[in-house]
Amino acid sequence: MRALPASVLAVCGLIASACGGTGSGGVTAGQAAPATTTQQGPTQETQQSPARQAPPEAEPLDGKVIVIDPGHNGGNYRDPAAINRQVDVLTKRKACDTTGTQTANGYSEAAFTWDVSNRLAKILEARGATVKLTRADNNSVGPCITERAAIGNKAKANAAVSVHADGAPTKERGFHVIIPKKINGPVDKVVGSSNRLGLALRAAFAAGTGLPYSTYIGSKALSYRNDLGGLNLSTVPKVFIECGNMKNPVEAARFQDPKFRQKIALALADGLQHYLKA
Ligand code: ZN
Repeated sequence: MRALPASVLAVCGLIASACGGTGSGGVTAGQAAPATTTQQGPTQETQQSPARQAPPEAEPLDGKVIVIDPGHNGGNYRDPAAINRQVDVLTKRKACDTTGTQTANGYSEAAFTWDVSNRLAKILEARGATVKLTRADNNSVGPCITERAAIGNKAKANAAVSVHADGAPTKERGFHVIIPKKINGPVDKVVGSSNRLGLALRAAFAAGTGLPYSTYIGSKALSYRNDLGGLNLSTVPKVFIECGNMKNPVEAARFQDPKFRQKIALALADGLQHYLKA
C-alpha cells in the first residue's frame, strides 16, 4: 500500500496552535436559509381551478437518510487531551479530532462547517430527506472521527458528507473532494458508490459556487485517501468536501459571507440529490 507523502496529509487541522478561538466561532446557523417566499403575483388573472386542492407533492428526497458531518468543533481547542487521544482508523492511529484551521482574521473552520452544515440540513429536509448531524452545537469537544463515521453507519445513511475547509499556503486556491480508497476493510464495499457521490458533488460544487478546482492537491478536485478515519470506518457512501482554502484572502472573504455559505449549501444539496436520484 502506497503511503501518501507527508505534504498531502498536511491539509486541515495541523494548524492546531493557531486555532485558539477568537470569539468569531459563534453559531450562526440561525440566520440560515431564507425562506422561499415566492409571490403568487396578480398575474393569475384567469380563474383556473381556484378550489382545486393540490395533492401532497412527493419531495425529491423522500425516504432518503443523509448524515452531514460538520468538521471539527468550536470547543476542541479547550481540551487538547481529549482531541489528541489516539484512535484506530484501520490504516494507522491518529488523533481523535483536530481543531481545524481558520482565516487570517480568526473565522474558524469549525464555525464555517457548522454554519454550512445547518444550511445544508435545512435545504435537504425541505426536499424530504431525513438528516442527521454528527454534532449538536459548535461549542463542545469532538466527537472523535471514529464516532463521526459510526453515526453515519448507525443511521444507515444513503449518503454522508463531511464538510471541511482547508488551511493551505495563502496563494493556493480552490476546492476538492476526498474519496475513500480500498483498505481491505469495511469501507471497501462503498468505495464505488462513494466515488459516484464524489463526482456528483464535484460537479454541483463547481457549478454552484464558481470556485476553482484545487490548485494544490489531488487531480481535478479529486483526492483519494486511505488515512482518514471518517472515511476508512464508513460503511455507507461517504466523502469529504474541502470547500476551499481559508488561508487564501479571496476564499476567506467569501466564506465569511452568509450568502456565499448559502450558495455552498445549495450546491452540496444539489450534488447529494443528483447522486441519490441517479
Ligand atoms: Zn477540517
